[in-house]
Amino acid sequence: MLQLAGSRTAALFLPVRVTERVFERLLELFREAWGPVTAGWHDCDLCVYRYGPSKMGTNPNAVGFKNVFVPGDAKIYLAPELILHYIDQHGYAPPSEFQQAVLDCPR
Ligand SMILES: [Zn+2]
Repeated sequence: MLQLAGSRTAALFLPVRVTERVFERLLELFREAWGPVTAGWHDCDLCVYRYGPSKMGTNPNAVGFKNVFVPGDAKIYLAPELILHYIDQHGYAPPSEFQQAVLDCPR
Protein backbone atom coordinates (compact mmCIF):
# COMPACT_ATOMS: atom_id res chain seq x y z
CA MET A 1 0.00 0.00 0.00
CA LEU A 2 1.25 3.44 -0.85
CA GLN A 3 0.00 6.46 1.06
CA LEU A 4 -0.16 9.68 -0.88
CA ALA A 5 0.12 13.35 -0.08
CA GLY A 6 0.30 13.51 3.65
CA SER A 7 0.92 17.14 4.45
CA ARG A 8 4.60 16.39 5.06
CA THR A 9 5.05 14.71 1.68
CA ALA A 10 2.98 17.25 -0.21
CA ALA A 11 6.09 19.39 -0.43
CA LEU A 12 7.12 17.28 -3.43
CA PHE A 13 5.42 19.47 -5.98
CA LEU A 14 6.27 18.46 -9.48
CA PRO A 15 5.61 20.35 -12.70
CA VAL A 16 3.16 17.64 -13.72
CA ARG A 17 -0.38 18.61 -14.54
CA VAL A 18 -3.46 17.06 -13.08
CA THR A 19 -6.24 17.12 -15.63
CA GLU A 20 -9.70 18.27 -14.66
CA ARG A 21 -10.93 14.77 -15.55
CA VAL A 22 -8.66 13.21 -12.91
CA PHE A 23 -9.66 15.86 -10.37
CA GLU A 24 -13.38 15.33 -11.00
CA ARG A 25 -13.03 11.54 -10.75
CA LEU A 26 -11.12 11.85 -7.50
CA LEU A 27 -13.81 14.16 -6.19
CA GLU A 28 -16.41 11.48 -7.03
CA LEU A 29 -14.40 8.85 -5.17
CA PHE A 30 -14.39 10.98 -2.04
CA ARG A 31 -18.14 11.55 -2.25
CA GLU A 32 -18.54 7.79 -1.84
CA ALA A 33 -15.36 7.25 0.11
CA TRP A 34 -14.57 3.70 1.09
CA GLY A 35 -11.50 3.80 3.18
CA PRO A 36 -10.24 4.11 6.71
CA VAL A 37 -11.63 6.95 8.75
CA THR A 38 -9.06 8.65 10.88
CA ALA A 39 -9.56 9.15 14.59
CA GLY A 40 -9.57 12.87 13.93
CA TRP A 41 -8.82 15.22 11.12
CA HIS A 42 -5.83 16.71 9.47
CA ASP A 43 -5.54 20.24 8.28
CA CYS A 44 -3.36 21.86 5.68
CA ASP A 45 -0.16 23.23 7.06
CA LEU A 46 0.76 24.73 3.70
CA CYS A 47 -1.91 27.44 3.58
CA VAL A 48 -0.40 30.74 4.55
CA TYR A 49 -2.28 33.69 5.97
CA ARG A 50 -0.14 36.67 6.65
CA TYR A 51 -2.39 38.37 9.20
CA GLY A 52 -4.95 35.70 9.95
CA PRO A 53 -8.01 34.56 8.02
CA SER A 54 -10.47 35.63 10.73
CA LYS A 55 -9.65 39.31 10.23
CA MET A 56 -10.49 39.05 6.53
CA GLY A 57 -13.53 36.81 6.94
CA THR A 58 -11.98 34.06 4.85
CA ASN A 59 -12.05 30.37 5.58
CA PRO A 60 -9.52 28.89 7.95
CA ASN A 61 -7.11 26.26 6.71
CA ALA A 62 -8.62 23.38 4.78
CA VAL A 63 -9.52 20.33 6.82
CA GLY A 64 -9.97 16.72 5.77
CA PHE A 65 -10.95 13.56 7.61
CA LYS A 66 -11.72 10.99 4.92
CA ASN A 67 -9.35 8.62 3.16
CA VAL A 68 -9.95 6.61 0.04
CA PHE A 69 -8.40 3.43 -1.33
CA VAL A 70 -7.59 3.43 -5.02
CA PRO A 71 -6.58 0.09 -6.55
CA GLY A 72 -3.54 0.38 -8.77
CA ASP A 73 -1.34 -1.95 -10.74
CA ALA A 74 0.03 -4.37 -8.10
CA LYS A 75 -0.54 -1.86 -5.29
CA ILE A 76 -3.29 -0.02 -3.47
CA TYR A 77 -3.05 3.71 -2.94
CA LEU A 78 -4.36 5.41 0.18
CA ALA A 79 -5.21 9.04 -0.47
CA PRO A 80 -6.27 11.54 2.20
CA GLU A 81 -9.14 13.89 1.48
CA LEU A 82 -6.82 16.88 1.51
CA ILE A 83 -5.21 15.63 -1.70
CA LEU A 84 -8.00 17.53 -3.48
CA HIS A 85 -6.99 20.72 -1.71
CA TYR A 86 -3.28 20.12 -2.36
CA ILE A 87 -3.97 19.66 -6.08
CA ASP A 88 -6.34 22.60 -6.40
CA GLN A 89 -4.69 25.15 -4.14
CA HIS A 90 -1.05 24.18 -3.93
CA GLY A 91 -0.27 22.68 -7.33
CA TYR A 92 0.45 19.19 -6.03
CA ALA A 93 0.59 16.55 -8.74
CA PRO A 94 0.36 12.95 -7.59
CA PRO A 95 2.37 10.36 -9.53
CA SER A 96 1.04 9.62 -12.99
CA GLU A 97 0.45 5.95 -12.01
CA PHE A 98 -1.90 7.15 -9.29
CA GLN A 99 -3.73 9.47 -11.68
CA GLN A 100 -4.25 6.56 -14.08
CA ALA A 101 -5.47 4.39 -11.19
CA VAL A 102 -8.02 7.08 -10.32
CA LEU A 103 -9.33 7.06 -13.89
CA ASP A 104 -9.44 3.25 -13.93
CA CYS A 105 -11.03 2.90 -10.48
CA PRO A 106 -14.32 1.02 -10.64
CA ARG A 107 -17.40 2.74 -9.31
ZN1 LIG B 1 -3.61 24.57 1.97
